[in-house]
Amino acid sequence: MSTPVHVSRLRLGHRASLTRTEGLRSTTYHSQWQLFPLGAVHRPESGAVVLDTVCGHCRVPVRVVLDSAPTAARKKQNRGVLGWVMLLAGVALIVTACLIGGGGAAPGLAGVTGLFAVLGSFGVRSTGKAYPGAGLDRDQPAATRNPHRIFVR
Ligand SMILES: [Zn+2]
Repeated sequence: MSTPVHVSRLRLGHRASLTRTEGLRSTTYHSQWQLFPLGAVHRPESGAVVLDTVCGHCRVPVRVVLDSAPTAARKKQNRGVLGWVMLLAGVALIVTACLIGGGGAAPGLAGVTGLFAVLGSFGVRSTGKAYPGAGLDRDQPAATRNPHRIFVR
């Protein structure tokens, strides 16, 4: 069981500005975040607690869900397992598609679905690795959630 990042390293980020750089071929966006401490010292013993944090930038109250160490570890592990299941299922579909062969619609669809599952699995596994054991409470207006994010420093 891995220990999640310590609470003192978690920050509430407010997207202070979004810079748009027009390139020759593409436009890149660069966000600048202002970071504020969450105001919690410990993780709860079990489950999760909701922290009422006030953003230091926009002064809007933001609710942050802070997981206990066991909960954070379990969520992280679940995402890891999900990633592996998707990877294996994707590989199985691609292999099946190759075995059926023949270029029909069914093996083609199986192959493409398999490919997406394999690609998606890497995304799921990397978000699992980066999971900080805290997140914005989903049960608050999007206008409150959108400019904010949890960071680990
Ligand atoms: Zn803010």
